[in-house]
Amino acid sequence: MKTIICSHCDMVSQQPIIQPGYVAKCARCNHVFCKATTSKPNKVFALALAALLVCIPAFSLPLVSVHLLGITEQTNLLQGAIMMIDIAPVVSFVVLFCAVVAPTLLTICIAFSSGCMMFNKRPELLNYVLKLTSIIIHWSMLEVYLVSFMVAVFKLTSYAELYFNSGLYFLVVFLILNMSMISEYDNAQHWKYLLNE
Ligand SMILES: [Zn+2]
Repeated sequence: MKTIICSHCDMVSQQPIIQPGYVAKCARCNHVFCKATTSKPNKVFALALAALLVCIPAFSLPLVSVHLLGITEQTNLLQGAIMMIDIAPVVSFVVLFCAVVAPTLLTICIAFSSGCMMFNKRPELLNYVLKLTSIIIHWSMLEVYLVSFMVAVFKLTSYAELYFNSGLYFLVVFLILNMSMISEYDNAQHWKYLLNE
């Protein structure tokens, strides 16, 4: 008999057999602990590769130009976070980690694991990559950064002239690809593949 542990309340249950499109919920806390696998590794791999290509201009091109007192300044995500190191090192570190490092690392991990599944490879590294994916997935918060960025931009419009630059459009595309990739990705399916179940 195969068992499964609820990640929310640690209750051990018998692994149910479920039809595609259905989910199984924990009897104690009602948390979804098992769902029928419908994820396609080639779709996840394509989304991850596209996200990796888009993340380069998203992080390096300027997001916004600020025109104030005859001077125009441009900044990108990395410059903005690094500029805050002296004033607010913790904020700077959190922005760098949650908006740059975690989403990029997560995309690389998902591209690697779905690529392994697609090409039918089981390298030893896949075990560590899947563990890292389950940790880093909770720290990828690009959407939080984008919402706070838009709030700051709208507040600044009363003091200066603002122009959106190409980096912002790439960042929005990166966010959409990243979220689509996460919603398609199924960690349990990859573990089953690794364990050859
Ligand atoms: Zn539970």
